[in-house]
Amino acid sequence: NVDDAARLGGDEFAIIISQLNSEHQATTVANHINHALAQPFLLDREENIVTASIGIAVYPYDGKNIEDLMRNSDIAMYRAKAKSGNQYIFFEESMNAEVIKRATIERELRRAISEQQFILHYQPQVDPKINLIRGVEALVRWNHPEKGLVSPEYFIGIAEDTGLIAEIGHIVLTEACAQYCAWLNQGIALEYVAVNVSVKQFCHPNFLQTIKDLLHGNNMQAHCLEIEITESVMMNDTEVVVNVLHQLKRLGVQLSIDDFGTGYSSMSYLEQLPFDTLKIDMSFVRKIQANGEGGTIAATIAAMAHALNKKVVAEGVETQAQLDFLHKHNCELIQGYFYSRPLPANELTLLCNQRGMITTI
Ligand code: C2E
Ligand code: MG
Ligand code: MG
Repeated sequence: NVDDAARLGGDEFAIIISQLNSEHQATTVANHINHALAQPFLLDREENIVTASIGIAVYPYDGKNIEDLMRNSDIAMYRAKAKSGNQYIFFEESMNAEVIKRATIERELRRAISEQQFILHYQPQVDPKINLIRGVEALVRWNHPEKGLVSPEYFIGIAEDTGLIAEIGHIVLTEACAQYCAWLNQGIALEYVAVNVSVKQFCHPNFLQTIKDLLHGNNMQAHCLEIEITESVMMNDTEVVVNVLHQLKRLGVQLSIDDFGTGYSSMSYLEQLPFDTLKIDMSFVRKIQANGEGGTIAATIAAMAHALNKKVVAEGVETQAQLDFLHKHNCELIQGYFYSRPLPANELTLLCNQRGMITTI
């Protein structure tokens, strides 16, 4: 009951079912497609499978003309894609509201880039053995003209989808390196600044050169920069990622896996890839109760990281009990509200001064 199938371009295809008796019929077609694609095929003697993300728009509810139907099926298709693909989703009117909201944020983000509305906060990473701030993680905030300080959770995803992350990421890296060097010059000898880098930014052809230029331009030693990527980065374009990781390592930059345990790290990657640090995700730290119970996963991640010769940072540490537990399991670094929230640069300077971190150089 499929009347027309066409390739729209790239990896996008359209199917028209002109005599649709019920929506159920559309799901049957979608299931057929996914089933057919699920069969492995040989390419260069290797087995491959492809998956499809399918968006369905139904005339006349979801559009009375071709343009509307195409646009709305596209919106639904992106929804399916975002939900890890290999499924179909029917268009719903609420998706339109979502699209409009995202378009607004995108427009505002472009403006934020040109008007420099981004600022960085810095959160200390503390060595619990001697209670010393070793380094900081830079965390971006959007100083929105109406909303005030906006959390990265609100805009990083959209920045990624629209490609704006390349520019925002560049702003963040530039500022973080400059601030780190400014602290050194003031006698605040932090060992490193850690910067979050997202998939698209990491895989961008210019990424490596940007890092080289920044280190060179600031006369900054490579080991003073730590790049944090999440496990999901490794799921993308593995070959590019592995290549960039090794080149960064060769430069001497430190590499860290953020939010460890929430994604899908393959154990073989973990062993082969040149990571220095593993950050235990907050969700596991939060499970550590006052009596020390609930910390099995955190302790296991720490033990595994140590067995692989990697340092461990625990994120989101809020209580003394969590700190004690993680210290007992030899976590090298503790990050969380227990020690400090992320702070503007000038407040971090004050904190370092209070803690006697000024050294003469
Ligand atoms: P992340 O890299 O895992 O950063 C840790 C997040 O946990 C930060 O949220 C931090 O403020 C928060 N946090 C730290 N300690 C505690 C604690 O004790 N309790 C609780 N409840 N939260 C704590 P934030 O700053 O909102 O950042 C959220 C995420 O946004 C980051 O997670 C990171 O993935 C992303 N992000 C932040 N800055 C950047 C950036 O410059 N570039 C990219 N690509 N992503 C960024
Ligand atoms: Mg991080
Ligand atoms: Mg994290």
